[in-house]
Amino acid sequence: MVEVGKSKKTIRITVCPVCGSTNIRKVSPFSGWLLPEEYVCLDCGYRGPIVAEIEVDEDEIEGDRGPDRDDI
Ligand SMILES: [Zn+2]
Repeated sequence: MVEVGKSKKTIRITVCPVCGSTNIRKVSPFSGWLLPEEYVCLDCGYRGPIVAEIEVDEDEIEGDRGPDRDDI
């Protein structure tokens, strides 16, 4: 299911299904392997296997970095 030929890239990011925050992460590094994946939201405290996914333009995420990013 890869779409090609578009000028814009879209990225799928995981968001909290409760508050919509992107400040969400997997609970354990083992999740998805031995156990069902579980996520925790650092904003509202939601914890569970269900997360929402949204697609955003790549420009939207990297927009504030600009062309000069070689100051690493
Ligand atoms: Zn949340």
